[in-house]
Amino acid sequence: MQIHWTTVIDIIQEAPYTWTYKLDSPADFTWEEGAHTHLALEGFNSGEKPNKSLVRHMSISTLPGERAIGITTRIKDECSEFKSELRKLTVGDSVALFKTHSNVTLKREDKAINLLSCGVGIATFRPLVLEYLSNASGIDRIHSLSIDSSKNYLFSDSFKSLPEHQLSVQHVDNRHTYYKEVEQLTKDKHALFYVVGGDEFLKENISFLRRQGITDEQITLDKHESRAGVFFV
Ligand SMILES: Cc1cc2nc3c(=O)[nH]c(=O)nc-3n(C[C@H](O)[C@H](O)[C@H](O)COP(=O)(O)OP(=O)(O)OC[C@H]3O[C@@H](n4cnc5c(N)ncnc54)[C@H](O)[C@@H]3O)c2cc1C
Repeated sequence: MQIHWTTVIDIIQEAPYTWTYKLDSPADFTWEEGAHTHLALEGFNSGEKPNKSLVRHMSISTLPGERAIGITTRIKDECSEFKSELRKLTVGDSVALFKTHSNVTLKREDKAINLLSCGVGIATFRPLVLEYLSNASGIDRIHSLSIDSSKNYLFSDSFKSLPEHQLSVQHVDNRHTYYKEVEQLTKDKHALFYVVGGDEFLKENISFLRRQGITDEQITLDKHESRAGVFFV
């Protein structure tokens, strides 16, 4: 397994409790839209076994062309050891990245794509939107629907409706409105649905989409094929 050690080059506060850590992109490190990586803090591999409390899965919220690896996360006052160590990082500090892979690349099947996200989950979709805007071939249109009860909607520069590019963006702050909107989206029986959020959110969405006649093949989760199965029981 290749471990890339890199440095923090910027820390941007996106919203209360939400930060993007910009990391220097090593020359041989590359990724596709929607990729996630393992972000590990110094000391994670200093013992006999890797210290899992210093490692988390994180999506990469940037594209390679932006020349930095963006990691966007929420850090509440009460947080895990990982987040409390992350909060202490400053520019120039080192972190490690490994096992980088995308489960949610854009499917260019001449269909509409709906991006459904909860909270900071929208970070996973930012590179998809940017990639679509640079090359829309094989995609009818993209609609992003995100729910965030804090109303701190992230990345408003990337997530804005552009009718001339068939991109529409909607933010809601409660489940009732969210599912009303999802129901509208399911009127297109050929559309694809990408869902990112906590496990309960994924299960709820799958069951709602199925009830509207959307097939499992139309639903994409940010889970490896071998792990996605448990969500589609
Ligand atoms: C493919 C994939 C991609 C992912 N991408 C991202 C991403 O881009 N960004 C991201 O943020 N996460 C992402 N995650 C989730 C991430 O890996 C973490 O599971 C998540 O951020 C929670 O982090 P944490 O366990 O350090 O807990 P925390 O975020 O610290 O805590 C989780 C919750 O528990 C509460 N809590 C924690 N500790 C305490 C305590 N001591 N006392 C009281 N309450 C406490 C917190 O307030 C919070 O509500 C991804 C996961 C996967 C599988």
